[in-house]
Amino acid sequence: MVCTILKEEIDCVFMTRQGCTYNGGHCDPVVEACEGCSHIKEVDGDYYCTTSANPAAKWNIGLCNYATHVEKESPVVAQAKINPLKAAKRAAAGR
Ligand code: SF4
Repeated sequence: MVCTILKEEIDCVFMTRQGCTYNGGHCDPVVEACEGCSHIKEVDGDYYCTTSANPAAKWNIGLCNYATHVEKESPVVAQAKINPLKAAKRAAAGR
């Protein structure tokens, strides 16, 4: 349901007809690590995240997965498994 409290025009899973069901009835403000992210929105002088109700939790176990201002490491590309027997045959055949 669309938030009518802080993040107007943003669809939020915590919003219900009875109001915001998130802890305290509204989102938590962004944390220092969020500085520079394009998901920050100012509401009445406070700054909130448009993708997370609890920005501090997004940084608890490393980089926030929605952050736009930090360089993320690319996942390790799995190397193709090479069958040594087939590789030897290919080499013998000159392919
Ligand atoms: S997306 Fe992550 S880094 Fe950006 S404001 Fe939200 S919690 Fe902070």
